[in-house]
Amino acid sequence: AKADGRGCFKLYAEHMDTALRERRAMEGELRSAVANGELELHYQPLAEIEDGRVIGFEALVRWNNPRRGQVPPAKFIPLAEETGMIHDIGDWVIRQACRDATGWPAHMKVSVNLSGKQLTSFKMVQRVLDALHESGLPPQRLELEVTESVLINDPETTLELLRNLRELGVSIALDDFGTGYSSLSYLVRFPFDKLKIDSSFVQGAAESPENLAIVRSILSLAGYLNITTLAEGIETREHIELLRSEGCQQVQGFLLDKPMPQNALHQFSRYPIAG
Ligand code: C2E
Ligand code: CA
Ligand code: CA
Ligand code: CA
Repeated sequence: AKADGRGCFKLYAEHMDTALRERRAMEGELRSAVANGELELHYQPLAEIEDGRVIGFEALVRWNNPRRGQVPPAKFIPLAEETGMIHDIGDWVIRQACRDATGWPAHMKVSVNLSGKQLTSFKMVQRVLDALHESGLPPQRLELEVTESVLINDPETTLELLRNLRELGVSIALDDFGTGYSSLSYLVRFPFDKLKIDSSFVQGAAESPENLAIVRSILSLAGYLNITTLAEGIETREHIELLRSEGCQQVQGFLLDKPMPQNALHQFSRYPIAG
């Protein structure tokens, strides 16, 4: 095997080469995706756990590429972040989401995911304002979702930026809560409107006492701080009954519906999930 040392290295180098070329190719195609109209938003309902009433939809971006088919966000958002394309893509997402939401019943909100990269400049405040003005959507109907990780690098500046966004009248949700660095102190210092409990704890709560303990402590903390709670990744009746009995207020997950294109949203107002 030792004699193969060089051959192995050459193979490895070729492999790297292929990976790099593939990355470049994808980068090039992603660069023209917005202009070519290849991005699309799908919407997943968020509902009150008590009566199944739909309170809004989360916008989840899809990339429909003629050659690659539908590329999931986990495959291209990281690339968009590394290359800076996330600013243009993120802009398109906010604008499109606001436009789409103006056609929904007036009590329904649209939730938009923001990447940490989008929160490094105060220009973001103007971009959100532009999207609201352009679409005519009242700020109270827009929710921005951020993860704990946005606070890692420069928490003071990021919190100031979030505060400015909130002053526009939009609400701010903390996404994937529990999976990132524990930022319990930020919870007290920043008035987040909602905590989205990550699906791993939601789905694990029925199986392990540790996960149940995490869910319980998030819910009690949110209760003290008067923050709305939503459980992500609800797939079964068991998940929903458990979260209901623990006092969680809102749910989202495949049990209700998967993310759907805008034109499939018309009839949704209530899901039969009442206990
Ligand atoms: P996320 O914000 O945590 O979104 C929830 C993800 O869980 C979505 O995956 C959704 O389809 C999936 N999901 C919803 N309910 C269930 C369920 O019951 N079971 C399971 N197994 N999965 C469920 P998706 O659409 O592939 O998005 C993945 C991630 O990509 C998102 O996670 C978000 O972090 C990111 N993302 C999506 N759209 C955007 C965007 O417009 N901008 C940015 N920056 N990130 C986005
Ligand atoms: Ca989200
Ligand atoms: Ca999430
Ligand atoms: Ca997630």
